[in-house]
Amino acid sequence: MRKQTFEHQYLQVLAERTQLNANEKNNLQRLVQGYLGECNLDKIVDTFFNQSELVLNNLNLAYNKEVIQVDKLIVIGNIAYLIDVKNYRGSYTYQNNSWYRGERILINNIFRQIDRASDILQKIFSAKRLHMEIRRVLIFMDPAVKVEIKQPIVQTVLRVEEVAAWLMKLKEEVQLYPKLSPDLWRDAITDSLLPPYCPLNDFSSQVGRTLQLGICCPKCKKFTWTSHRYYLYCDHCGFCQSKELAYVKTICDYGVLFSNSNLERKELKKFLGEVGNEYYLRYQLKKHFELVGPNGSQKGYRNLGSKFEYWFENEQEYFKALQKRCNWKTNDKK
Ligand SMILES: [Zn+2]
Repeated sequence: MRKQTFEHQYLQVLAERTQLNANEKNNLQRLVQGYLGECNLDKIVDTFFNQSELVLNNLNLAYNKEVIQVDKLIVIGNIAYLIDVKNYRGSYTYQNNSWYRGERILINNIFRQIDRASDILQKIFSAKRLHMEIRRVLIFMDPAVKVEIKQPIVQTVLRVEEVAAWLMKLKEEVQLYPKLSPDLWRDAITDSLLPPYCPLNDFSSQVGRTLQLGICCPKCKKFTWTSHRYYLYCDHCGFCQSKELAYVKTICDYGVLFSNSNLERKELKKFLGEVGNEYYLRYQLKKHFELVGPNGSQKGYRNLGSKFEYWFENEQEYFKALQKRCNWKTNDKK
């Protein structure tokens, strides 16, 4: 599963609980667009290339303090296809070594990011004495985008409708090129991997801003529930959610917003709002979260600072099964 970046998760959780400012709104929109484009490409690659052992996604790599972000890397023989995904809208032209959007010249050359990534990736391979040829591939994912290249270029530029044919050709290459032991290039990449980016400031630095407390309904984004023994019933849209899932999800949301500190029960109780029950919270923390140290200075539970679907990626079946509790509609209103 391709993960949303930390900033994406943070802004998404934040948007559910407070009014975003203009800057945050733009960033979130840009991140959502980019993420959708990347997920669409993942699906196309799965369908038409389907050699997962030769593909790496979403890499943060560092070499000598220089950091790059790689959307997708496909390695065949000693050729590494470095893929940059753009989910831009509009009409783009490349001429006289500059990119234009409509008539206007773009200050940020669209190739700059992939060219720089290519340089640094080359250094990463060279440092391991790997002789790799890097080919830069820029993919425009919006089917309505117009792209015109009016001069010779070293990069490959593809529109989404050209990607399937390109991948099928790559698949043929897999048979032709001698296999470089996949471990060699993978090792080089793994050694340069950075942990996912975490910001210096979390929501605790946002003085004067308030958050909507409570459990957010995944369907209608409202916060009013009727609590039953095993599930919560949304007063607004009628959606039912197992209480355990609702609590754990909300704890994760808190963790995303306050990623710099451990999870503390007192703060979580406040965050859960009126519907939150101290005993049930205590029970869920013990059941699903890891206590950090003995109850000394480092009190609280470990905060991974990511949304539920990533934090509990391996327990999705368990939580899905809990949803059956919504059908246990006895007269158990509490
Ligand atoms: Zn609802």
